Amino acid sequence: MTNITDKQRIKQSLDVIRSNIEAAALRAGRDPKDVKLLGVTKNVDIDAMRAAFDLGICNFGENRVQEFLRKSDILDRECRWHLIGRLQTNKVKYLDERVSLIHSLDRPELAEALQKRGEQINYRFPVLVQVNVSGEESKAGVEPEKLKYFILALSKMGNIQVKGLMTIAPYTDNPEKVREVFKKLKNLSVDIIRERVENISMEELSMGMSGDYTVAIEEGSTIVRIGTAIFGERIY
Ligand SMILES: *Cc1c(COP(=O)(O)O)cnc(C)c1O
Repeated sequence: MTNITDKQRIKQSLDVIRSNIEAAALRAGRDPKDVKLLGVTKNVDIDAMRAAFDLGICNFGENRVQEFLRKSDILDRECRWHLIGRLQTNKVKYLDERVSLIHSLDRPELAEALQKRGEQINYRFPVLVQVNVSGEESKAGVEPEKLKYFILALSKMGNIQVKGLMTIAPYTDNPEKVREVFKKLKNLSVDIIRERVENISMEELSMGMSGDYTVAIEEGSTIVRIGTAIFGERIY
């Protein structure tokens, strides 16, 4: 249950985050409106999500397909759903037009599954290509050297619509240490734009989480994915 104090806590957190977003955008000479705040709601209950929605959060990010499906069935609000975690190919058959954006397209088999599913249901899945900028072994994502080739292949898939790039920076207690990661993702998107590939747009850069979103915005992020800073620590 979300009681009044939970809602107040969410409101206080959102007030801080929104003013941080605005300040970071202005520091970079950007319009704060060009930065979307995605509420990451894995393991967050429906009542807290309703509270966040009523406080202006209309984009929700989920990591697991089953949790997304369950919540999208019961959340009685007009919101947009984003899938941000590693997506298993065998879960693609459950996806449909309820998915506004998949942030984690990271391999050809997943692209093929999405293309096939898109053909079946006559939907063009909006996606971001996840890039493993930092090169950490544990991280999903296309290697930067292989990005152009992957994008070229995606451009030929009629039921996939590439909207930009996404990355997850290494965990750090000092976000300055990951500024280079965000710079690199931005540069990769500029490289792709220069290639002028048909059917490929680079309008979105999904980068920045609770610990590093202000730096990500300074480096060009258009979508920040924030969980803990809004809803508190997750309990699993
Ligand atoms: C959980 C998660 C987030 C949010 O992380 P916080 O540190 O809680 O803000 C963002 N992106 C992805 C891909 C995640 O899995």
